[in-house]
This record gives sequence, C-alpha cells and structure tokens, in this order.
Amino acid sequence: MRRKLAAGNWKMNGLSPDLAEVETLLKTFKNPSVDLLLCPPATLLHRMAHLTADGAISVGGQDCHTATSGAHTGDISAEMLRDAGATAVILGHSERRTDHEEDSEQVRAKARAAHAVDLTAIICIGESLAQREAANTLDIIAGQLAASLPDIATAENLVIAYEPIWAIGTGKVPTLAQIGEVHDFIRTRLERRFGAGVGRGTRILYGGSVKPDNAAQIFRVPSVDGALVGGASLKAVDFSPIIKALEDSV
Ligand code: PEP
Repeated sequence: MRRKLAAGNWKMNGLSPDLAEVETLLKTFKNPSVDLLLCPPATLLHRMAHLTADGAISVGGQDCHTATSGAHTGDISAEMLRDAGATAVILGHSERRTDHEEDSEQVRAKARAAHAVDLTAIICIGESLAQREAANTLDIIAGQLAASLPDIATAENLVIAYEPIWAIGTGKVPTLAQIGEVHDFIRTRLERRFGAGVGRGTRILYGGSVKPDNAAQIFRVPSVDGALVGGASLKAVDFSPIIKALEDSV
C-alpha cells in the first residue's frame, strides 16, 4: 500500500561535476520499484531537475522559508523550490534545528508553506543521545510530532523521517528493535491525529548512517518504508546498493 522511498540528502555537498552521479543513477534505475528522491543543495536543484525530468528520480529542497517571498536575504521559498523543479522538501532536519535554532513551530509553518504549493514535506524528528539514555525517546518523538506537523496533511504530501541525532553521520545505528519501536509509535500517533487513512498511508523513513552494508537489515523492519540517506547518497556506487536493498524488500 505504501510505496517505498529512498531519499538522498546531499546537505552542503555537490558541485557541477557531481551531477554525473545522478546520470549514473538514472541509467541504473530506469524503472525502479521504489520512489527515488535526491535533495541537492539549492545551487544544483534546477539543473538536477532538468537532468532527471524524463527519468525515475525526483528532486527536492533541503529547507524552505515560511513566507512566499519578501525581504529574507539568503532564504528560499517553497514556491521557488517548486519553480526550480522540486516536488518535495526536507524540513526540520536536526542540522537545521541545531545550526539555525529552528523549533518545531517553525517547522510546522514551513510545512504549511510547502503544502500550499503542493510540495511533499519530509519532516525530520529524532532524539539526542542524552534523551535516549534518559529513556525519553518516545516523549521527545511525541512532542516533535505534535508541534512540527501541520493540522492538515495527506498520505501523499507528508513523509516522516525518524532520524536519531546520534546516528546521523556517526556510523552508529539503533538496534532494529529500537527502530521498529519508534516507527510503530509514530504510526500510532499519525493514526490518532489524522485518522486511519492518513496514518496508515504516510511513509515513515529511517535516517542515520544508512550504508550499503546495513541497509538490507534495516529495510527488513516491517514499519520502515525507506530511508533518508546523507553521506551514502553522494556517490552512485554507495546509493545504488541501498536502493537495490530497498527494492529487494518490497
Ligand atoms: C541525514 O543527513 O539525514 C542523514 C541521515 O545523514 P547520514 O546518512 O550521513 O547519517
């Protein structure tokens, strides 16, 4: 029922020559059995969208402003992302929450802005190591979900990415039981808030040090609908086996 999704977050990485990685992916995955999304830096978005226009890869932004336009130097609106060819936008990534002190209320306002121009909002949530060690993970997740999600969402315009902060870029990964527990908890909360249709239809991705050598086992967790991949999405040689592992899990 939920089509799986492999999403790559290039973060602040990628120059013109790196578009060759996308060409390789396009050749490798002409008719994938899962959805593919790449979120490059804004500087590459338009060119990547052009490159992938006839292929199986969609492109997305990594953040957007809450406003449509105006005096916000350096920012990008959801409408601009859409205009550049994006179909989705990552919101509330822990690096944005930390580097730019974004709180969940801002993330919610950004999600509304994204939805207003038909972008899918990929909303990131996750606990810190201290919060996990204090056995507060589910409380933190509940709070982030309550405050970050817009009041109205559909299974098509919302994706949740569970990304434990301590697993991002560190090579550390939660146990499969820990991933399953949080994903099941998120689904229950979505069903309670939005109803069974949206709750059951919304994709929940795992993110945090997904690599070619651990992807298959993570994708065996029944409640994992795909992955948000940082470092391993930069090179086709790394991202391809992750995508294949996701296809094999379907
Ligand atoms: C991310 O940036 O969303 C992420 C999960 O990064 P990494 O895969 O590098 O841990």
